[in-house]
This record gives sequence, structure tokens and C-alpha cells, in this order.
Amino acid sequence: MQDLVTIIGGGLAGTEAAWQLAQRGFAVVLYEMRPVQTTDAHQTDRLAELVCSNSLKSDQHPSASWLLKQELRRLDSLLMRAAETARVPGGQALTVDRVVFAEEVSRAIEAHPRIEIRREQITQVDPAKPTVIATGPLTSGSLAANLTQLTGTDRLFFYDSISPIVDAHSIDRSIAFAASRYDKSLDGTGDYLNCPFDKKQYEQFIDELMAAQAVEAHVPDDVPYFESCLPIEEIARRGRDTLRFGPMKPMGLTDPRTGRRPYAAVQLRKENLRADSYNLVGFQNHLKFGEQKRIMRLIPGLEKAEFLRYGQIHRNTYINAPALLTEGLQLRAHPNVFFAGQISGVEGYVESIATGLLAGVNLAAHLSDEPVRHLPRETALGSLCHYISHADTKKYQPANIAFDLFPALANPLKDRKERQTETCRRALEKLDEYMGVRRAVHV
Ligand SMILES: Cc1cc2nc3c(=O)[nH]c(=O)nc-3n(C[C@H](O)[C@H](O)[C@H](O)COP(=O)(O)OP(=O)(O)OC[C@H]3O[C@@H](n4cnc5c(N)ncnc54)[C@H](O)[C@@H]3O)c2cc1C
Repeated sequence: MQDLVTIIGGGLAGTEAAWQLAQRGFAVVLYEMRPVQTTDAHQTDRLAELVCSNSLKSDQHPSASWLLKQELRRLDSLLMRAAETARVPGGQALTVDRVVFAEEVSRAIEAHPRIEIRREQITQVDPAKPTVIATGPLTSGSLAANLTQLTGTDRLFFYDSISPIVDAHSIDRSIAFAASRYDKSLDGTGDYLNCPFDKKQYEQFIDELMAAQAVEAHVPDDVPYFESCLPIEEIARRGRDTLRFGPMKPMGLTDPRTGRRPYAAVQLRKENLRADSYNLVGFQNHLKFGEQKRIMRLIPGLEKAEFLRYGQIHRNTYINAPALLTEGLQLRAHPNVFFAGQISGVEGYVESIATGLLAGVNLAAHLSDEPVRHLPRETALGSLCHYISHADTKKYQPANIAFDLFPALANPLKDRKERQTETCRRALEKLDEYMGVRRAVHV
């Protein structure tokens, strides 16, 4: 008789993992705590509920998000099929009717002869038993407490605050200059790019920031922000010059164009594994994405910035994946335990589905005494898993899929679109090789 697999969490990742395991012949018990106990964001008792937007992001070739979805389709993802059935017109995005989507997934899981659903909150994980932990960013408190013991860490609860990231190619280098404060560069070349403001530009930036619309809070009103990572709009509200003495301070910088210290400056820091992208240091914010783009483009040097990620603040529960997980999403200290979804250190609906799929496939291989195969690094899912298992453990931040997570092309192309097209072509070819499929790749 096959092992009985436990899956905790009937969200996006948990349902996809359950399906993949059951399709491979394993009996699965899927624990979902709703409706017995609910979360701050879920509103129904359906499996795979989309808690906020109904968009699964761009479905336009050649975007990184399209590629990830394309890979999932080839890997026979249940949730991608449900998304197709639930699809509604949404321009270039894969937009779904959230009710139809959740109904489709629930129906398939409920009808599967090898899946049993139990509506129960799990508070303890038995690491000896084959388990996928997929309890999401709003993991219940008692289980989160148990996971801190299992993972040997106290870093599990976060009010997440992330700064925007821009594509390096879209920064105007005739304005933004490389330098570290007081020339204290680690390698002598200037570790930061600095976007210098004069007084007029700063005043206009503050006016627009104060007038900008924030997104509706995903977190309860009474939750205080950490003082060390206040959103910039909140700092600006405390006084017109407060940003100039905080994240926009110009101390120790000299603008080579004027030979003087700028009135204010935004520093851009190269991302660790994201060779082609820069983080706006200390610029976490809570602005609507459209507003955010408009206002951040007022920063000198970022007038044409392409945003790979927008600043956001919301509650998030995730493990310090690079310290704990293998590239196959397996807990290094307890090989029977796999993590999937947002708690595994990824960000986003499709990324959660993708890691659910991989955890299911890999746990099935592990239980069949087959080696857990890593996905090719050139694929979107392979790059995402490489990031979560290799990023800097000290300041780990979950990631959406983005082209800067992929390995560079052997022959780098100058044109951005051509580069992205080639990255997609290469990924799908490698995925086919991995799957043992022989076909001409048409992207
Ligand atoms: C408020 C909010 C809004 C978001 N909006 C978006 C968005 O618009 N677009 C986007 O791409 N991403 C968004 N995300 C991020 C992320 O993509 C979603 O949270 C996504 O649902 C994560 O999938 P998951 O499977 O990891 O978790 P979930 O889909 O949340 O599934 C986890 C499941 O586990 C259950 N559970 C929790 N603890 C236990 C327990 N102890 N025992 C049993 N069951 C348990 C929960 O009830 C839930 O059903 C948002 C996140 C939050 C918190």
C-alpha cells in the first residue's frame, strides 16, 4: 500500500500539490481549516480561493509571468486548467472569475478518488510523515508557532514591507551616478546608483507623494508599522523634510554633473541574485501600483523606469527558505517534509501554484525512492526555486518570477524584447528536455 500523504492548506499551492500526488497514485489527506477557522483575507470555504485580485498576471509572450504559466500548462497543472475554464476578458492578463475558478478546483479535488478533504486546523507537524506544508501567508498562529520549532528559527512572522525594484536597463545613467556615501565603496566602483534631486524637484516629489492614493490596507488597522521600515508616504506625512533626513538624505554624495552635494537623493542598490535590477533603498510604500509608477518616475534618472516589482506592505508568513530548503522544496533537516506556496518564500498566485506543483511532483518521487530532480535552472520555475534556495539568508525577501532571476544568455542580446524572447525559448526547450518530450518549440 502507498504511503498516505498529508497536505496542510487547501489554497493555491496545497490543492495543486494534492492533485499532482493523487494523479501519481498516492492517497492524500488534505487539511483545510476553513470554515472552522478562517483567515483575515479569505471569505469563503472554497478551496483555492483568490484572496484579492482576480488576475493571474500577464499572459503575454514574452513576459516572465507568461513563461511560468506556460511551463505549468506543460507540466499539466490542475489550477492552470481551472483558470482557462474560469477565464474572463482581461486584456493581456490571465484574469479569471474567482468563483468559477475556486468551484472548478474544489470540484476536481472533491471528486478525486485518492483525495480526502478534512476541514480541520493542524497545529503540529510530524516530520516523520510525508507532508506538504502549504498554509500560505496567513498560516494560523498555533501552526506557525510549531513551525518555528520544526525549522529551528524565530523568523516566521512578518509585516512585510518591500521596496520597488526597477530594471537596470531603464535607469538613465546620464543622471543617476555610481557612488557610495563618503566614497566608502566596497569595491572602489561605487556600490549604489544615486538619483540626485535639486530643491524644486524634491518639493514637487513631496507634493505628489502627499497627494497620492494608498492601496486599501490588507492588514488590520491596529497593526503598527515597524519604525525601521515605515512607508515613505507615512514618513512624508511627518514633515516635508523628514525624507531628506531619512531614506533620501544626500550626505556624503557629490553629483558629478554639478560638483556639489544634491539637495536630496534616492539610492539604488543592486539586488543580490538579480544582476539586472536595482532596489530603491528604503522606498517601501503602500501606494497603488499606477500611482506608484507615476510618482517614482518623478525621481531624476527614473523617468523611464520599468518596474519589476512594486513596493508593498502586507502581512506575510514565510520561512527563511535559503537556509532551510533544497532546490526541490524539501526541508533539508526533515526530507519527508516539503514546503509550497507563499510560506515557502515565493510571492504571488502563480508562483504559489507553481511551487505546489513542484512539491507534489518531488514528494511523489521521494516516496517512490527516485531522486528528486531539480528543474533546469533556465526554466522559470527552476530559476524561482534556485532563488529561494540560494538567496542571501540574512535579509531574505520572497520573490515573484522576473527575468532577472534567470541565468544570463550565452550570447546576450542588446534588444530587451529579443532577450526576453530568447529566454522564453530556451526555458521551454529545457523544460521539454527535462520532461523527455521531443518537439519543435513554438513559443
Ligand atoms: C491579503 C493578501 C492579498 C494578496 N493579494 C494577492 C494578489 O492580488 N495577487 C497575487 O498574485 N498574490 C497576492 N497575495 C499573495 C499570495 O499569492 C496569496 O496569498 C496566495 O493565495 C498564496 O497561495 P498559498 O497557497 O500559499 O496560500 P493560500 O491560498 O492562502 O492557502 C493557504 C490555505 O491554508 C489554510 N490554512 C492556514 N493555516 C492552516 C492550518 N493550521 N491548518 C489547516 N489549514 C490552514 C488557509 O485557510 C488557506 O486556505 C496576497 C496575499 C495576501 C495576504
